[in-house]
Amino acid sequence: MRRASRVTLKFATNLKRKHIAALLEAYRAAVNFYIRILWNEGGSLNKETLAKLEHTRLSERYKSQALKQAIEIVNSTRKSAQALGREPSQPIFKGSAVLDAKFVSIEEGRASFDLVIRLSCLNIGHKIIIPTRRTTHLNKLLSQPGAVLVQGCALSENGIILWVELPDLPFKREGRVLAIDIGVNKLISDSEGNHYGKEFKKIRDKINRRKPGSKGRQRAFRERENFINRCLNQLPWAFIYALGVEALHDMKRGKKKGRGKKFRKAIAPWTYRRVLERAGQKAEQNRVLFVAVPAAYTSQECPDCGWCDKENRKGENFRCTHCARTGDADTIGAMNVLARTLETLGSVESPRL
Ligand SMILES: [Zn+2]
Repeated sequence: MRRASRVTLKFATNLKRKHIAALLEAYRAAVNFYIRILWNEGGSLNKETLAKLEHTRLSERYKSQALKQAIEIVNSTRKSAQALGREPSQPIFKGSAVLDAKFVSIEEGRASFDLVIRLSCLNIGHKIIIPTRRTTHLNKLLSQPGAVLVQGCALSENGIILWVELPDLPFKREGRVLAIDIGVNKLISDSEGNHYGKEFKKIRDKINRRKPGSKGRQRAFRERENFINRCLNQLPWAFIYALGVEALHDMKRGKKKGRGKKFRKAIAPWTYRRVLERAGQKAEQNRVLFVAVPAAYTSQECPDCGWCDKENRKGENFRCTHCARTGDADTIGAMNVLARTLETLGSVESPRL
């Protein structure tokens, strides 16, 4: 597992910053040049595509790194457009240059700068030396057993992202299985009847009230991110060995079978995807198995008798039209996800007994 951590560039002199800015400018131009070729002409990772970029100050090595990054950007843009069911549009790269050990080396520093980053720049002939400091976060990652600092970085004007490679630990074998449902009124409901994030609506409304692009909206976005993290931290990670969720690809275009327009409007696909993504990361950190199951009709099916009917669910309430079982609709949804998770795990226990 690879974890990222940001360190500062503020200890670099102005001259060094100028070198970095010039490098980034040439590098981004190269990546965008290759993106255009890949997008329109379907070029590939070969000498011909590489040679098409003629007027640049980048070395051959940097050019080939830019082409590699362009290929990754094009592939991931197409993939995410496909997942969202949208037409992909040509991406424009403004981000960090992802550089490996050919361009960067990271060493222990001395005195107040405990980390030294050596970086190949344009037309200098030697690597420039950037002194920086380890952060608490980086130290925490490096203190874990078997942690290795990766020789490489993601470089931008605002900072340098370093990576720490942590050994993959085996999954847990003890504990129980939990499933969650991601919803409108409560952000997360689990299969044991607990709800997390009942105030999510407030944060969502705040985002909608703020002007797009405004600072207030950025703040509200950060609040949403923190809120999602806080909710997920409350799950009983220490006591479970598997977490069941509804599969992401069933959320195409924000549609979810069995839930009306209200659901789609209220919980944006972004939030849904983000909660799933963070839940997956937390599961990995806690060595908990992450199980994605088909989402169809989880909110309409009766966990007691198996009767599936749209009429079973009325807003926040569930009442089976066949056996009259009642309950909280989100909890019932999570229980159905649990049943499918247990089936997937091949468990002998069945919650329907
Ligand atoms: Zn029933």
